[in-house]
Amino acid sequence: MSIETAHAAYDSKIEGNIIFTQLDAAINWMRKNSLWPMPMGLACCAIELMATASSRFDIARFGAEVMRFSPRQADVMIVAGTVTYKMALAVKRIWDQMPEPKWCIAMGACASSGGMYRSYAVLQGIDRLIPVDVYISGCPPRPEALIDGFMRLQRKIQGEKSVVEQKKEFFASLRD
Ligand code: SF4
Repeated sequence: MSIETAHAAYDSKIEGNIIFTQLDAAINWMRKNSLWPMPMGLACCAIELMATASSRFDIARFGAEVMRFSPRQADVMIVAGTVTYKMALAVKRIWDQMPEPKWCIAMGACASSGGMYRSYAVLQGIDRLIPVDVYISGCPPRPEALIDGFMRLQRKIQGEKSVVEQKKEFFASLRD
């Protein structure tokens, strides 16, 4: 079974409730259901980000309600707002402080592409500085759109290589 299709399988016919799976599938299942966001709120989109954490939308359903303001404790950065050059290097520095594995969501037009600000003061997309896994359109996106972004990220994580393969790439990058 490939990593992309590997999921935890439950067979209730076997006495003792046995679960069959692969290590990658199990680790990715745990990772995708316990994402700890680093809320990088930079402008108006951050208001919708805060609304997403409220009881009405309840991102605890996805295990992602634990917003961390310490990068050492976070594994998904949500860039929500206009990234000015003045802030851009601070965002990059915080990203660098987050431990691997980590992911990034660009929430809204500004974070994804600079939005309406074709300005000397604004970075034209946070992907010019850090790798983005999920882009969310809108100005601002509604909380449902951010939840959809979380679900897209979860699908991406489910298909990722974990542990052994990730370490191989890490050691290869040290050799380069
Ligand atoms: S995309 Fe729109 S709502 Fe979001 S930060 Fe930019 S201007 Fe504000």
